[in-house]
Amino acid sequence: MTNSHLNPGSTVGILGGGQLGRMLSLAAARLGFNTHIYSPEPHCPAKSVSALATTAKYSDKKAIAEFARSVDIVTFEFENIPIDTAVTAAVETPLYPPIEALFAAQDRLTEKEFISDTAGVPVAPYHPVNNAFDAVRALKILGEKIVLKTRRLGYDGKGQSIVTNEDDAKSAYKFLGEVPCIAEQFIPFRREVSVIAARGLNGEVAAYPLIENEHRDHILHKSICPALGDGGDAQTHAIRILENLDYVGVIAVEFFELDGGKLIVNEIAPRVHNSGHWSMDAGCIDQFELHIRAITGWPLGGTNPPFKVEMINLIGDDVKQVPDLAKSPYTKIHLYGKSEIRPGRKMGHFNRLIF
Ligand code: AMP
Repeated sequence: MTNSHLNPGSTVGILGGGQLGRMLSLAAARLGFNTHIYSPEPHCPAKSVSALATTAKYSDKKAIAEFARSVDIVTFEFENIPIDTAVTAAVETPLYPPIEALFAAQDRLTEKEFISDTAGVPVAPYHPVNNAFDAVRALKILGEKIVLKTRRLGYDGKGQSIVTNEDDAKSAYKFLGEVPCIAEQFIPFRREVSVIAARGLNGEVAAYPLIENEHRDHILHKSICPALGDGGDAQTHAIRILENLDYVGVIAVEFFELDGGKLIVNEIAPRVHNSGHWSMDAGCIDQFELHIRAITGWPLGGTNPPFKVEMINLIGDDVKQVPDLAKSPYTKIHLYGKSEIRPGRKMGHFNRLIF
């Protein structure tokens, strides 16, 4: 434990009330912590497993300050929290991961600059795009095929468009709302992989083995850990990113793996991540407990799973498979307590242990 570790009985404040907040709360409870969820949604997955809750807007600075004063530490479960909100909370109570990580992750241009220029980790060649002319120029500079992405608020493939000619470049910029964008060279990757890593209050670092991810309709479908192959520099890259941000907590680093094994970072998420859900049943410290340990100054514990695990998301109607899945041996089901099934909505996931 660090000198400034938090004891069981302390309260962890979590900004955000989705499934990540729910699983963080459950992990915190196992270590004897209380959790307090702050979310504008009165009924949400995290509030139904947490004794303390605030329902208010993220822009309500008075409510944010009061919430932060009532807890021993503040963390968050999504990276699009307004920076102002995070600063208001951090003035009252220690907030981890650090605000610099939010800055880096909220804007794809800042993110790419930080990863390549500060941390020295490879990213796809990119070019800022602020008008249709820039979009055409980016295509000339970067090659035959580019991906035009909005700098802010893109996720699960939303806010991006593939461009292969000048007319496409102009119409894609218009289609994306004529907002600040970034163009990236299209990377012909052989697979998508990620690393989940953590850094503690005293600088201790830990990383899980390489994870292989498969997407369907731009949404994560399956993650397998450990992935085939040794992962090359994946862990080293993730740890370099953690150290350059003076980070505390869990981070996810998503990579494209090229033929030949070279890794290029696609993006970082300064939080627990869907591609780390397999860890809940992997016989080592899971990513949610790892995050709670890191931010409360506890030792990080073991991140090496003794066996292989496959995680599959239950998206929309997939959740109707649960009665059948429940009959399978070595299948662990995790549901998020969402009553309404909607297409594309993450309702839960299951982990299959592979011995
Ligand atoms: P993102 O929202 O940036 O994670 O992108 C969503 C998905 O689009 C990724 O998981 C990739 O499958 C694909 N993608 C994004 N950027 C690129 C790129 N530069 N080259 C090839 N595919 C990409």
